[in-house]
Amino acid sequence: LFHWAQSDWFARQDTLKWVALIGAFFVCACWESFRPRRLLVAATGRRWLNHTLLGVFINSAPLWLLRLNGILVAMAVAQSPYGLLNRNAPPLWVRCVLTFLLLDFTRYAQHYLFHRIEFFWRIHRVHHSDPDFDWSTGFVFHPGEMLFTQLVYIAVIAVVAPPAIAVLALELAEAVHNFFVHANINISPGVDAVLRRIVITPDMHRIHHSDDPPEQNTNFGAMLPFWDHLFGTYLAKPAAGHEKMGVGLREAPRGFSLLGLLALPFRKL
Ligand SMILES: [Zn+2]
Repeated sequence: LFHWAQSDWFARQDTLKWVALIGAFFVCACWESFRPRRLLVAATGRRWLNHTLLGVFINSAPLWLLRLNGILVAMAVAQSPYGLLNRNAPPLWVRCVLTFLLLDFTRYAQHYLFHRIEFFWRIHRVHHSDPDFDWSTGFVFHPGEMLFTQLVYIAVIAVVAPPAIAVLALELAEAVHNFFVHANINISPGVDAVLRRIVITPDMHRIHHSDDPPEQNTNFGAMLPFWDHLFGTYLAKPAAGHEKMGVGLREAPRGFSLLGLLALPFRKL
């Protein structure tokens, strides 16, 4: 696998990512149809189209517009004498685990700041403006947030120099998990309780999309649930219950069009 992956990385890692995205989409879309968690409030046709256009742009832009992504940077630093993890010890698997923890913690910390600092909240508010919560919510990010996230992510990778294979594994896991965590799927409470000890579940992340600001300021984690427990930002369930809880922004309960989403950071609500 490693030799195959090494040959023509640039093309293959992107193909792998799209296979993961499309595969995860089909699994989550079927799951949502058979075991939905909540009734959706907005018309789905236009919402799905707008969100897909935004999601495809955001997922293509780093590689095709910036000509850069985390994997390429990890490979470049590996050829240099620099980088904290750019060495033969500790063993590769330890460096891979450290990479997962560090990059996931970076996402947690950045997400926390996106809620705390007014300037960043205006951009991140776009992700919270969806009045529903389903697979397509995972696509709703302002391009400005994507750009900032990529810059932070690439800067961390440049300093740390994690194994490129770990960065690739993380990106594939994130692509799949992003669909899963936003999916409108019903997971039995027993299974959810076990699952959310290892990975953030849709029930856990949906609380973060509550229209109640104190609940919005909980469960900031991206993939791993540990940081919320460690820093006291974990909330197990919403006050109104999962079915009745309001989702989105109270100041804009009907959501936005595609242009409205792009303009949202510049608007006063
Ligand atoms: Zn948020």
